[in-house]
Amino acid sequence: MTTVRSVAELRAVLDPERRAGRTIGLVPTMGAFHEGHLSLIRRAREECDVLVVSLFVNPVQFVPGEDLSGYPRDEERDSALASEEGVDVLFAPTEHELYPPGFDTVVSVGGLAEVLCGAATSRGPEHFTGVATVVAKLFNMVGPDVAWFGQKDAQQALVIKRMVRDLDIPVRVEVCPTVRDADGLALSSRNAYLSADERQRALALSRALRAARARVDSGVTDADAVLAAAREQLDAAGVEPEYLELRSPTDLGSIERVDGATLLAVAAYVGQARLIDNMILGGTP
Ligand code: AMP
Repeated sequence: MTTVRSVAELRAVLDPERRAGRTIGLVPTMGAFHEGHLSLIRRAREECDVLVVSLFVNPVQFVPGEDLSGYPRDEERDSALASEEGVDVLFAPTEHELYPPGFDTVVSVGGLAEVLCGAATSRGPEHFTGVATVVAKLFNMVGPDVAWFGQKDAQQALVIKRMVRDLDIPVRVEVCPTVRDADGLALSSRNAYLSADERQRALALSRALRAARARVDSGVTDADAVLAAAREQLDAAGVEPEYLELRSPTDLGSIERVDGATLLAVAAYVGQARLIDNMILGGTP
């Protein structure tokens, strides 16, 4: 595995591969790898010739007040794991490389970025502008044929797909299922912030999603009744959601009845950790 830190080095490695007709894959990450990241990397490894994993804690997608400096970082461990998984190129740029002085352009996706996390006070649409901008840059720097993202960040995946479509970026975006711990907790780098006690309370998020799914499976379609099943679980654990909403899994439009594939998404603070989770209810989108 080669580790590169500049766009020039990255292109020097990838250009000959592309000219030789090899397919290039990209898995963008902010590091602190867990099995969720590794599931994307493993899938990508099977589906492309040259696999690039990017490692960059993107400051512009953190909102003011969020602890960017405290975000878990361990490049040495990530690098060892990436190498074990057969990654070809680890792209770990400096902040200066991605945002040199005078950097003054953003990519902003409209409506999809304004609901759920985009409407939450602790995130807002600027979060997705930060995500779309860095992912657009990564796509331009790597020039991947395929890129893999996690369903754990369902709204992020939709925002990126819309950006790719609207800006005609020649990349195929694949979305991989959420990886969970055995007890149901969706894996996240932010789980590192949870104490043992908080981790127990955090289980309420996945429990809420399962309770809603059970209600849908029992034949209930009324959105309020489905949400109430989820809400009960959060209340029981004393977890106050930032949002708990049913939305269209394709365009995040509002939903009144769960009579087809529907996204149930939740965000909540548990201690210092802002956690998100989601599940598709009522079928496959
Ligand atoms: P991050 O490093 O948190 O920005 O995540 C990098 C990629 O891994 C994103 O596409 C995430 O959606 C994906 N990801 C994070 N957690 C999980 C998980 N538990 N299961 C599947 N994919 C995940």
